[in-house]
Amino acid sequence: MNEQANTTIAFVGLGNMGSPMASNLLKAGFAVRVYDRVPALIEALRQEGAVGCSSLRDTVESANIVVTMLPAGEHVKAVILGTESDEGVLELISDDTFLIDCSTIDPDTARAVASVASEKGIEFVDAPVSGGVAGATAGTLTFIVGGTDSGFSKATAILSHMGKNVFHAGKAGDGQMAKICNNLLLGSVMAATCEALNLGVDNDLNPEVLSNIMLQSSGRNWVLELYNPCPGVLEHAPASHQYTPGFMCKLMSKDLGLGLDAAKLSNLQCPWER
Ligand code: NAD
Repeated sequence: MNEQANTTIAFVGLGNMGSPMASNLLKAGFAVRVYDRVPALIEALRQEGAVGCSSLRDTVESANIVVTMLPAGEHVKAVILGTESDEGVLELISDDTFLIDCSTIDPDTARAVASVASEKGIEFVDAPVSGGVAGATAGTLTFIVGGTDSGFSKATAILSHMGKNVFHAGKAGDGQMAKICNNLLLGSVMAATCEALNLGVDNDLNPEVLSNIMLQSSGRNWVLELYNPCPGVLEHAPASHQYTPGFMCKLMSKDLGLGLDAAKLSNLQCPWER
């Protein structure tokens, strides 16, 4: 039997990113158990061949690997460490289970979770992603891993089925730090690209023509290439599908906040305000 058939992956968080990522693990031949707070999301994955679970315990208890794809640090803490009322993943798994968190969260929470897991003899890596819903669907995401060398190597074996680049940023939390730096830049580029296109359209320029001009000029960037904010310019961009599904403003706002918090902790001045 191949490695995939012997590996059960529990996937927790089946939102815009988690659903297509879990779907690619199924296509790769892994046994996948899935869980989300929203039952309809579980049902959609069940129809693709996943085992739909109705509790966190049922999802993770028999898994070799647990992947989480949740909105923010508080959700990752609650799911992995547990709360006053609910058991967390660490209480429900054996110590040979490996944890990969793909959510974008603050580095301190990632380090704290890695440390509690390590005290229990469980390996945890942070592995936030870049590439958006299109990259998650196509299996071309970039993963940015923070953790030990052995954690990076174990994570790569799984993440390579959902993405085409897997980087080792450094120790626990460093994946999140690198991702936050990237999104601070992305947020700025997105806002500036919107302003430039808006100025052109307001002065009767065709947004597709203007985009092509800027793509061959010094304003070229990832947003113009893959995520053009004007409807109809790029077929696969969220703007051409009533702006869904995509990277929600509240998640970008969270990431920019993470960047500002990190800058403050580094005593650096960042020219943005909340
Ligand atoms: P989302 O809000 O669409 O999905 C999050 C899912 O987590 C939801 O379905 C929610 O029901 C589930 N959830 C929350 N708490 C839970 C709990 N306690 N138990 C089980 N399920 C729970 O978010 P998304 O767009 O999929 O993004 C997920 C993460 O990936 C975020 O940290 C985001 O910043 C990051 N990210 C998103 C994109 C993007 O383009 N959407 C790109 C890169 C990174």
